[in-house]
Amino acid sequence: MASEPKKRHSKAQKRTRRASIHLAAISLVNCKNCGEKTISHQACRSCGFYGGQKSADIKPQVKITRA
Ligand SMILES: [Zn+2]
Repeated sequence: MASEPKKRHSKAQKRTRRASIHLAAISLVNCKNCGEKTISHQACRSCGFYGGQKSADIKPQVKITRA
């Protein structure tokens, strides 16, 4: 047998609970190698450095333009 909730949650209880459901802002830090703004705990997107050493090869981005 399925268990049933003992009491109904009020609208205010439901809304208070759901008011805290949201995405957190991404924390940006300055790259120690090039100074560019980058996402923390990830390799820099412009130079590929992480933790003082090169960890990713960054290819120069090609801009796609419509003919
Ligand atoms: Zn960098």
